[in-house]
Amino acid sequence: MTHDTMSPAVEMEQLAQHCQHLRLTRVGQTLSTLLEQAAQQELSYSAFLATVLATEVAAKQAKHQTMREQMARFPFHKTLDGFDWKAQPSIDPKVIKELATMRFVADGAHALLLGPPGVGKTHLSVALGLEACRLGLRVMFTTATGLITTLGKALDENRLEERLKVLTQPKLLIIDEIGYIPIDRQGANLFFQLVSRRYERGAILLTSNQGLGAWGEVFGDAVIASAILDRLLHHATTVNIKGDSYRLREKRKAGLVRSTLTAQPEP
Ligand code: ADP
Ligand code: MG
Repeated sequence: MTHDTMSPAVEMEQLAQHCQHLRLTRVGQTLSTLLEQAAQQELSYSAFLATVLATEVAAKQAKHQTMREQMARFPFHKTLDGFDWKAQPSIDPKVIKELATMRFVADGAHALLLGPPGVGKTHLSVALGLEACRLGLRVMFTTATGLITTLGKALDENRLEERLKVLTQPKLLIIDEIGYIPIDRQGANLFFQLVSRRYERGAILLTSNQGLGAWGEVFGDAVIASAILDRLLHHATTVNIKGDSYRLREKRKAGLVRSTLTAQPEP
């Protein structure tokens, strides 16, 4: 049967099969709408083809973005749009927006978000991670403790090399919460190996509640800490966040906490 003599129903059936064969899932699902729109708007052949292909590209991009977000293992979903800049005057939004372009990732540079609990470090690191996913980059989110536990386990199982390779693959590695829990000598050593491995190859975004001067104590060894910082700070943007915890601020607003409590650690 030639195309000319094909009935509309058979033709639609064949189009559906072609879409399936070519994995044009979204086009397959929306074919009749796309065709109706083309007829109504009297689209040119090229405009119609562009619409069809753009439909599939958009759907595939959205799917891949969702996959990247799932692979990154974010602890929650918070965006830059959801960040209240006025509540946090110690941050220059321009600096965060520059980081959000992911130029630092392309350069294999690093970023450090430092500040006390509750000021938005994890929120911003997740938001930047989501931006990276949106821009098509592979991201991995982990806490410092989780990372060191994983590396220690890999070392015990003689799979350290393999693990380090896996951790070198994502374009952006986010390591949250350095400094809450002290790191032992082996942990510091493993952390150093990872940082060396990614040095000038893959970006790291770190958050810490401790100033850099206290990292010697965090890593239990001033020499390893300075070797780690030396590599991290070589190409790095450091954001020092000050101020009160946003969590407590919300409670204060509701009259649940007196402002004298803000100087104390959070529960
Ligand atoms: P940190 O990691 O610095 O301890 P988080 O990023 O976990 O703090 O922030 C604590 C909570 O407060 C989160 O729910 C976060 O979304 C919210 N938060 C903090 N700062 C802001 C802000 N400036 N605007 C909106 N939400 C914020
Ligand atoms: Mg946090």
